[in-house]
Amino acid sequence: MKVAIMGAGLSGLSCAITLEKNNIIPTIFEKRNCVGDRFVNGEATFSILNRPIKNDLKYLEESYGISLKATDMIKKLVVHSKNEIGSIDGPIGYINIRGRHENSYECQLERQLKSKINFNSTYEYGQLCKEFEYVILATGDGAYAVKLGNYRCDLTCTIRGATVEGEFQTSIAHVWFNYDVIPKGYAWLIPFSEKEANLVIAYPDYPNNIKLDIDTIWDNFYDIACTALGENLKITDKFEITQYIMGICDKPIIDNTYFIGNCFGTISPGLGFGQFASILTGIYSAYDLCNLEKYESLVKPLFKNYNNSLVLRRFLENLNDNSLDTIIKNLDNKLFDELINKVCSNTTELEVLKNLLPFAKFYNTLKK
Ligand SMILES: Cc1cc2nc3c(=O)[nH]c(=O)nc-3n(C[C@H](O)[C@H](O)[C@H](O)COP(=O)(O)OP(=O)(O)OC[C@H]3O[C@@H](n4cnc5c(N)ncnc54)[C@H](O)[C@@H]3O)c2cc1C
Repeated sequence: MKVAIMGAGLSGLSCAITLEKNNIIPTIFEKRNCVGDRFVNGEATFSILNRPIKNDLKYLEESYGISLKATDMIKKLVVHSKNEIGSIDGPIGYINIRGRHENSYECQLERQLKSKINFNSTYEYGQLCKEFEYVILATGDGAYAVKLGNYRCDLTCTIRGATVEGEFQTSIAHVWFNYDVIPKGYAWLIPFSEKEANLVIAYPDYPNNIKLDIDTIWDNFYDIACTALGENLKITDKFEITQYIMGICDKPIIDNTYFIGNCFGTISPGLGFGQFASILTGIYSAYDLCNLEKYESLVKPLFKNYNNSLVLRRFLENLNDNSLDTIIKNLDNKLFDELINKVCSNTTELEVLKNLLPFAKFYNTLKK
């Protein structure tokens, strides 16, 4: 069987590893000159977003033999709104590294691979279709799916981030919802060592936001972050992504082409998480090629998750700074504190977000 994988990122490499485990040797094409050849980035996964799975890393290892080592477990998420600070405490997820770092998730996956990767590839999709029986599109965005008329784009985002130096605890992450400074968006700080972290802002490209000056947004937020952390964070690297597409394919397979990772629509519009689902689509597409299970059936829950996450996005956008303040303030309320920590922990399989969905839908309808 001749299989081409276009893109050696999280989904493409997970697909390749799973194919190899089932004795299919794929040909992998990567446009960059090595795996993870981009800015170093601290990313995170939260157990509450992957329910009923409790612990994503344990699940990948035990169910699919894919082993990934995080930088640290998240033991505290500090949540900031315009006027309040709250926190969620306990083992709630993982922090990991992406990009140009020997322990980035993509580099860890590459080490589990036997096949060689064809780097600096200039192969176009059409060429691959002619030369291979199956093509797996894993290029990390919906561009090909859009071209093939197989994609529903729900929003695009502007993202600006920096690597900052300071004193950090690698088990503590921060997130900000402050619409006065970042309208309808959010920001986060994820440390990937005790000395380095990523500070990032992200907001949707709605007409009112496009008019805004990103330098002003960034400068205002940077001051807020420095004050909140009590540090004069030193910026050592910067990146900016414009029109980052969030959407989903209509069909996960067309003819002999499989759409996986962000090409499928794994990036959740609610809060921008996509790693875990990307890895799953890689594994699932390989399962289909190996005749173990059908890709279309396996990705059904991912379609559902995506649509639920879109409800969450609209819900967040319908809030204002006052309501955000009220929610954040209550994170540490004596009455709810323990309950919130418990439902967010990776020791429970409670599907809290699913249960809160009807409320979010109702609220969105009211706001309409
Ligand atoms: C700034 C930022 C922060 C994020 N933070 C988080 C987070 O904290 N938690 C989380 O879960 N998710 C996060 N995500 C989302 C997550 O990173 C993605 O969902 C995930 O990486 C998608 O995996 P993928 O395999 O689709 O793409 P990638 O892992 O990006 O891999 C795509 C690969 O394809 C290659 N490629 C592209 N075009 C071609 C071509 N024409 N030919 C050959 N190769 C090609 C690329 O070079 C790359 O190596 C974040 C995303 C961004 C942008």
